[in-house]
Amino acid sequence: MRPLIGRLAFPMFNLFGIQVRVHFTFVLLLVWIAVLAPEMESNAGLLGLVVVGLLASVIVHEFGHALTARRYGIETREIVLTPIGGVARLDGYPQGRAELAIAAAGPLLNLGLAIVLFCGLVLAGLPPWGAGPVVDLPSALQWLLFGNVCLFLLNLLPAFPLDGGRILRSALSSFLGQERATRIATRLGMLLAALLGLAAFVPWTLGVPFNLILLLTAFFVLMGATRESSLVRMLQVLQGRRAGEAMMTRCERLAPQDTIEWAVRLLLSTTQRQFPVVDGWGRVAGEVDRQRLLDLVARCPGETPLLELMNREPLTVTEDCDLLEVLRQLQGSARALWVVRDQELRGMLTADGLSQFVEVCKRLRHRDSGAARP
Ligand SMILES: [Zn+2]
Repeated sequence: MRPLIGRLAFPMFNLFGIQVRVHFTFVLLLVWIAVLAPEMESNAGLLGLVVVGLLASVIVHEFGHALTARRYGIETREIVLTPIGGVARLDGYPQGRAELAIAAAGPLLNLGLAIVLFCGLVLAGLPPWGAGPVVDLPSALQWLLFGNVCLFLLNLLPAFPLDGGRILRSALSSFLGQERATRIATRLGMLLAALLGLAAFVPWTLGVPFNLILLLTAFFVLMGATRESSLVRMLQVLQGRRAGEAMMTRCERLAPQDTIEWAVRLLLSTTQRQFPVVDGWGRVAGEVDRQRLLDLVARCPGETPLLELMNREPLTVTEDCDLLEVLRQLQGSARALWVVRDQELRGMLTADGLSQFVEVCKRLRHRDSGAARP
């Protein structure tokens, strides 16, 4: 369930226990700057300093979200930097006041940085604004100030998945309800993506190449808005429900003494991808998944028993476990959760299974509300 944005990013550093990673599309930004620098008649070294400064401002913004989330008991899985800004992937789903505070913290830190730069320039007797090329330190600082003002204002646009969209949603949801508030913020996000997409082609109509950064922004905004709206709808369905309601009770099992050869045959006979290894008392002693089996079959003799090779720390939950907690774990590193009663296996939960459960619940709700009359 890890989103595309997290899969195509590479580790940079770790701060406050949070991994910061950079998305591969970041290279595009560097190419764009390399092309633009001679055109802007700027000093390449100072332009590089502005870029590093802006990158640091984006990182400060994301840590604003992450550390505020920590105050509300929500950890951050990672921070991913993209050419159009950063994403702090939270390990939880803040709502109400927490959502408002976490969303506002990022832009407010950019406002703080902008105020510090503004005061610094004014106290040094230098003009705070200027749109000229980056030729000396004051002009570099002016661009940095401009960049932070942009980060503050753009992130406050009231459209999902921008911070302003979250602020709008949490503000509206107190009197319009969560569902309508989310729908409004999502539609505004899609409208923003369409406008950005159109704006990207304005230079093209004038005979110059279209703006790649704007087009990329439109794409990320559209993806974010769609993802955010389906996540919120999923949370609404799962709220108050228990693991026992959503688990798949028919699942293939393996025993510790089963061989790799046997496990691979089972793998070929089903669409299931994760398998519990269950002992003689019905308890989950371990697990193996499709990828692990494919790796093992290339390296180990077919008659090796799974006991020696399985993951011995499978994640288990009880039937009354909250489905929001299940979703949180499945959106993290867990591929499958095993549902147990008195340590005995009762069923399994996977991201696909949970999505299917949500789809069925949504349709049932639709039918029962009378909206689907023939
Ligand atoms: Zn933000």
